[in-house]
Amino acid sequence: INQYKEKNVLVLGLAKSGTATAELLHNLGANVTVNDRSPIEDNEQAQYLISKGITVIGGSHPLSLLDQKVDVIFKNPGIPYSNPLLKVAMEKEISILTEVELAYQISEAPYIAITGSNGKTTTTTIINEILATDEKKPLVAGNIGNVSVEVAQNAENDNVMVTELSSFQLMGIETFRPKIAILLNIFEAHLDYHGSLGEYGKAKARIFMNQTKEDYTVVNVDDEIVMELVKEASSTIIPFSTTRKVDGAYIEDGIVYFQGESIIKVDEIVLPGKHNLENILAAISAVKLYGGSNESIIHVLTSFTGVKHRLQFVDRINERKFYNDSKATNILSTQAALSSFDENVILLAGGLDRGNDFDELIPYLKNVKSLITFGETALKLINTAEAAGIKHIKHVDNVEKAVPVAYEMSESGDVILLSPACASWDQYKTFEQRGDIFINAVHKLK
Ligand code: ADP
Repeated sequence: INQYKEKNVLVLGLAKSGTATAELLHNLGANVTVNDRSPIEDNEQAQYLISKGITVIGGSHPLSLLDQKVDVIFKNPGIPYSNPLLKVAMEKEISILTEVELAYQISEAPYIAITGSNGKTTTTTIINEILATDEKKPLVAGNIGNVSVEVAQNAENDNVMVTELSSFQLMGIETFRPKIAILLNIFEAHLDYHGSLGEYGKAKARIFMNQTKEDYTVVNVDDEIVMELVKEASSTIIPFSTTRKVDGAYIEDGIVYFQGESIIKVDEIVLPGKHNLENILAAISAVKLYGGSNESIIHVLTSFTGVKHRLQFVDRINERKFYNDSKATNILSTQAALSSFDENVILLAGGLDRGNDFDELIPYLKNVKSLITFGETALKLINTAEAAGIKHIKHVDNVEKAVPVAYEMSESGDVILLSPACASWDQYKTFEQRGDIFINAVHKLK
């Protein structure tokens, strides 16, 4: 593409995506300046870009960057629009994009794009696995970890970009037009960034703003906010529902259908949880619209045990099933996890104290026969468990110690679930580290 040749481009935010964006634009002939608020002296990525002849300015976001003519800004999705530099840029009507837009511009592969408040990674992963089984050459990119511009540079016409998008990324698109868009759900999240639920919803709705009748928007008809937003769409709407028969994917008599064709029995699906059923219906819709086969859908859904740390099935030991849901860093996620099981549950929970209480968990604790708690919120969770009438409550030092205690207390048929309802930073670096410690402790039981 030629549109960036000799254009003055400002890249805001280094990180992986900023570095890849800057290098690509430089290779496309743009005059690139990169700016990050952190000092760059010891920053490897900055030094790498400088070695390529790219200007890198660190330490702050000086307004003087806009003294010379800037044709376009590519910003890291995390930088808010309230940033003074961006405010001035908006006054000057400079377009402010994110790297997803650039990735779209440089690749000829079609896009399947997934957004929503929850379930993006799970849905993206399932679509990728099924299309890979079908040898349809999917490439996973976006919020899920692989920088879109890097993936897009290697995409051929016969690939398909399966892209997870946050509302932050969608704020910076201009021409991005996925062949298939999925809008899973809208919950109250990130309101600090977007200001209101309305603004947040509008950001998500950008996923279909450039689509036309030939493109598809897959939507959850059980989500009122989603259905309100999608009234504005010009695309072909493909609804899915876990509660009623619709024109897309739905469930009837324990069987998943897509537009009247039976696809798979719900019982055969390994991934637990009603919320995951939503993700699965969305994924099946996209796969069917893209020409995927029922065999591959069945193959993947009868073996897929979940994305790591997201209600991930870890192991079965002496008829006890272990699940790692370390990604559940808030009450809402733990509610979803607890709603996923009919079995008796031994819940491992606790972590960083954000000042909230856990009363909203109480209605979900019906199947929980024991609570094992750790971390800053242990005492609060003990109060909650007592209020819910849970008989067996134990306080332990950490996740590693909780696992053998849980096993001791368990009986055949129980589910042992790590779903902390809290962030991990009081004791662990990340929720991934916390989940890995859980997995190792489970394997040690053997
Ligand atoms: P995201 O990528 O959007 O953060 P994930 O697929 O990583 O979503 O799932 C994160 C957590 O969100 C899960 O552990 C689960 O608790 C919850 N979740 C997943 N899918 C849904 C859904 N469809 N509806 C409600 N909650 C969900």
